[in-house]
Amino acid sequence: MNNQEKLDYLISPEKFFPADIKRGSLLDNKSFIEAVERYLNILSESQYWSQEKLEDLQTMRLRKFTSLIQSKSSFWAEYFHQFGFFPEKATLEDLGILPVLNRKILLELGDKTYLNHDFINQSTFSYYSSGTTGVSLKHFYSEREILINYAVFLFRHPALEKFSIGKILSRKSFVVLGMPGFKHVFEKDFFYKNFPFIRSPDLDNPDLRKDIYASIRNAAPAFLVGYGSLIAKLAEWIIEDDVDLPIFAVRTTSEPISTTERETIKQITDGPVINMLSGNGVGYIGFECPTDQGCFHINSETNIMEIVGKDETRMTEGSEGELVITSFAYTLNPVVRYAHNDMGQIFNHSCKCGRTLPLFKFYGRRGYEIILPSGRKIRMMYLYRLHSNVLMGEARLGRLARQFQIIQNRIDNLLLLIVPRREISNADEIMIRLAITELFNGEKINIEIKYVDVIPNGRGHKPSFFIPLSEFQERKL
Ligand SMILES: [Zn+2]
Repeated sequence: MNNQEKLDYLISPEKFFPADIKRGSLLDNKSFIEAVERYLNILSESQYWSQEKLEDLQTMRLRKFTSLIQSKSSFWAEYFHQFGFFPEKATLEDLGILPVLNRKILLELGDKTYLNHDFINQSTFSYYSSGTTGVSLKHFYSEREILINYAVFLFRHPALEKFSIGKILSRKSFVVLGMPGFKHVFEKDFFYKNFPFIRSPDLDNPDLRKDIYASIRNAAPAFLVGYGSLIAKLAEWIIEDDVDLPIFAVRTTSEPISTTERETIKQITDGPVINMLSGNGVGYIGFECPTDQGCFHINSETNIMEIVGKDETRMTEGSEGELVITSFAYTLNPVVRYAHNDMGQIFNHSCKCGRTLPLFKFYGRRGYEIILPSGRKIRMMYLYRLHSNVLMGEARLGRLARQFQIIQNRIDNLLLLIVPRREISNADEIMIRLAITELFNGEKINIEIKYVDVIPNGRGHKPSFFIPLSEFQERKL
């Protein structure tokens, strides 16, 4: 492949994948695997391309993507027109003309932002997510587009470059704890076993652990994936039980892990512990740099990341602001300047590892903590955990509620507001309470549940899934 051919591939990867890929038909699917491997090979080169060449690629993809959605959707055609954005000649700078969208705005806009799927004549699927805002949003995909994107960027990581992805995709090698987003995409083909509803305390049960260990052995060598907290807890048990398991790589998802947790996890595998940032609806945003822990490289071939300040202006390199993503991967549910609720910084300086893809750091939302009566604080990263327990665990609040919000209104009281999607039973309520109290290690905090029609926006007119006590008192809510 010459340079022009590589560039063509990155501009239109969909042209190089078989037409008929579907979930359930991917395992050991030679033509699919070949296309994935080819794409990954090109990405392993383009991560060293010059800034200029990468920006040229992004410009071409931006024009192609926005032209397509303009031609297929009257909503997007009007939207671009209204703000004076011209897809055919757009530059990366021009993107800044368009407003920053968030979950709240997308919900208000409703289904008209989705493209009619008739024009691609492919099967689609959708699911709901809530993010840390507590507002649940429908994601709508072409099955083929999401499969291409997931199958490639899930493996786009320096530590996986030495593995044969073809081999991984020819076996059911994934053992998965919890319900990370890629379950929707990969379960049928590549999961050996999924333990969807387990929570950290469940791992104290030796029978469950035996079941997990057996799955890992049967999937050998296994790719262990799951919520950060669950994987960390399992790693502690694997060490305690003194078992040796054939785990070739570990990936933690959905919540950040601490340095201690990472060190523990490292002890259970000779392979890499993989850390990536992914966002609901935007896919894999970036991967952790092998030489600079905590710093991530942007998947610039398929995303544009910007950092914006409070007034939506673009921030200069190194300043802190909100991460805003434009993705070229999904045409039916276009992601155009979407703020998915992470604070962070971008750095353009060259990286020690030699990769030219820009670097970023992300922090999640700040100022978020629950203060317990003892004075102990539950910080942001545990709130992610709370969030995934409540939403994705047995409580399934994402299914039950259109929106929810937890307000700490007293040192010993949490108020949970729920805008129900359907009637919530007593049994559901019990599950919700359990999912929340699990986090407090036995400290008593009362949980008051209230059903409401609307939940007003929080600071910055943004929806928020949690309001800390400090904000509650300050705003005299
Ligand atoms: Zn690097």
